[in-house]
Amino acid sequence: MKRALITGITGQDGNYLTEYLVGMGYQVYGLVRREARNVPGLQPYLGQMELLYGDIRDTASLEVAFYKAWPDEVYNLAAQVFVPTSWDIPSETFDMNVGGLVRLLRIVEHRKPDTRVYQASSSEMFGNVDGLCSEDTPFAPTSPYGASKMAAHRLCGIYRQRGLYVVGGILFNHESPRRGPEMVTRKITRTAAGWARGDRRKLALGNLRARRDWGFAGDYVKAMHAMLQTPQAKDFVVATGLSYSVGDFVHEVLNVLRDQYGVEPFRSVEDAVDVDPRLLRTGEIHDLRGDATRAREELGWKPEVDFRELVRMMVEADVRTLAR
Ligand code: NAP
Repeated sequence: MKRALITGITGQDGNYLTEYLVGMGYQVYGLVRREARNVPGLQPYLGQMELLYGDIRDTASLEVAFYKAWPDEVYNLAAQVFVPTSWDIPSETFDMNVGGLVRLLRIVEHRKPDTRVYQASSSEMFGNVDGLCSEDTPFAPTSPYGASKMAAHRLCGIYRQRGLYVVGGILFNHESPRRGPEMVTRKITRTAAGWARGDRRKLALGNLRARRDWGFAGDYVKAMHAMLQTPQAKDFVVATGLSYSVGDFVHEVLNVLRDQYGVEPFRSVEDAVDVDPRLLRTGEIHDLRGDATRAREELGWKPEVDFRELVRMMVEADVRTLAR
């Protein structure tokens, strides 16, 4: 039975990855900072996994967790993930997003160097690029978050040269009903749940024109696992290749409300949204689209859930949650 240690197991990707790995017969160990047995996405699997207390900033707790898990595969998902927050706490962002990986790689190198390591790299490393981004596109991050992910990603390559098996999965935005509530997609779908129940307050958003390549987290964790099964460690872009604007997302949400719930809270995106200049981002990335050709050809990976289905899934989940 293969053993996997997941940092960031309480987060969106950690939940879906646990589900996927347990389903494949893995013994899963998850690093948690606090009591996590009530995390809904983990509850069904508690009998088949073990939660270990630790913090990605604390070497001793990582050592202990690593010894208990003695993993064949480590998935390093723990991070300070919110781009705006990275401007407020840049040094802590680096401590978690770069220091966390370094601490893990040191443990792997000295204790169990045959462990395969997945690092959660990000499309935010690219910054503003015209056209599709592949594994060869130069990085030009525009935020401390993007810079921290780039530094960690570079370390993956450096440790690979030292003989460790480390891959950087360059994942473009992926969402789900388990996405953090601070993220724009969840902010929209949570507000939409209120609209479905009669609330008519407008949604405050920043840049409606920002475009992202949005996929479904449940699809993307399959690529993470597939990356660690290849004979030679290398980096992969994971993306749908299509981008939609924040305004498109709101538009699709309004379609779902009309088609699924028979409600039309606003006649247009412009009616539904108050553009709040305070929510505009420093260093905004205008458009991001990924070229996942390598993942498709070498991992046999492709996204199953498209944009419309993703929006529908998220709205329905938030409507159900609000109804409860
Ligand atoms: P998420 O839902 O926000 O989860 C983040 C996880 O990190 C949580 O489990 C959190 O634990 C944990 N964490 C934070 N600080 C920690 C610390 N000091 N020690 C231990 N654990 C800590 O994020 P996600 O969307 O699943 O993303 C997973 C990874 O993929 C992240 O590294 C993110 O940067 C990267 N990524 C995500 C996307 C995306 O679109 N979702 C795209 C590219 C890359 P608590 O519950 O204790 O807070």
